[in-house]
Amino acid sequence: MTPFWETTALADMSRSQWESLCDGCARCCLHKLQDRESGRVYFTMVACRLLDRHTCRCRDYARRTQRVPDCLVLTADNLEATDWLPESCAYQRLAAGKPLSWWHPLISGDRETVHRAGISVRGLTLPEEAVHPDDRERMIIDFNE
Ligand code: SF4
Ligand code: SF4
Repeated sequence: MTPFWETTALADMSRSQWESLCDGCARCCLHKLQDRESGRVYFTMVACRLLDRHTCRCRDYARRTQRVPDCLVLTADNLEATDWLPESCAYQRLAAGKPLSWWHPLISGDRETVHRAGISVRGLTLPEEAVHPDDRERMIIDFNE
């Protein structure tokens, strides 16, 4: 049977389909810096304070926007405008007409493959409280290198 992400437009997916597309990489849960002139967004190694840095899961997903007001709630409506998502992001890939990668849990059937493939931020991050905001510039990482 053809999987739902190949037959259903992002805008037509159910909530559970949409949520299942997230590969659990947590790249989007890192603090980001934006260049004032170019507008380019850079990821840093600094994790959001709600991120479980080992499982790469939000520790309070249901109340995340109350606890972290600038947490992004990604939808089909704001996906195009959210141009800073990493190239590996499943939403980004499908929107660009690309298939899901082998390590995506929906393909592999295993939530660990995103970690084993080195796509998730497991082992890469520093806790928010350990890094002064002025030092974040020195913590930039580029996932597309
Ligand atoms: S970058 Fe995309 S796939 Fe990865 S955690 Fe964020 S929304 Fe999910
Ligand atoms: S609040 Fe949760 S989902 Fe939002 S950025 Fe932080 S860890 Fe990620």
